[in-house]
Amino acid sequence: MKNSIAQLIKAQEIQKSINNLKKEIELMPLKREEIINKIDKTEKNNQSAEVEITAIEEEIVQYKKQIDKKNEEIKDLDLIDDDDLKSKNEREEKRKDLSMQIDNFNKKIEDCEEKKHKKIKSISSDKITLETLKAELIKEEKYIEENKQKKLDELASLEIKKKEILEGITQDIIDKFDRIIVNKGDIAIVPVYKNYCSGCNMILPFSLINRVKAQKEIIFCPYCSRMLYYEEEEIV
Ligand SMILES: [Zn+2]
Repeated sequence: MKNSIAQLIKAQEIQKSINNLKKEIELMPLKREEIINKIDKTEKNNQSAEVEITAIEEEIVQYKKQIDKKNEEIKDLDLIDDDDLKSKNEREEKRKDLSMQIDNFNKKIEDCEEKKHKKIKSISSDKITLETLKAELIKEEKYIEENKQKKLDELASLEIKKKEILEGITQDIIDKFDRIIVNKGDIAIVPVYKNYCSGCNMILPFSLINRVKAQKEIIFCPYCSRMLYYEEEEIV
């Protein structure tokens, strides 16, 4: 049993590496997905900016049409020829009003041009971002391609190593060991220090500690279910 405990402790060390490696493999595609999402978002932004620019241009066309119409109206006013003072004044008022309307439309066109300019600027900066992101994606895909298989091979060889280390130990104990690892994280077998379990820090009954010391069987902590072994030296 003394040997089994040594084997289990070694297997636990390998298991830590296995778990770390599995995590690394699991995380590998995440960065790639993140970049793809950013590309997607930027492209959508650009598309909606293009649509907005078209709408702004259409708006400008409409304002220009209005301005032409108002100018026509002013021209028509100029054509009228009468000496009646009252109607002359009225015409003058009307002309002023039309000019003001034209000024307003010109102001609106200016605002539109400014908005359009901003959109164009944001599209061109998005295009630079897109290029950077696409280059990043290629780099990331190359990295994954080069490293994933390497990590999978490493994982397979660690699994084999673990199996070899655990040779001679009953499947029942191995299953329990694996189950504790899954439930408790990386640690399945822990030393007893003084009179407590170093996995959960609970004080253990002396009878149990004696059985751990005897090393005739695998003893489980009654509180955290981890496997226990005895270590002569205390951790300070
Ligand atoms: Zn415990």
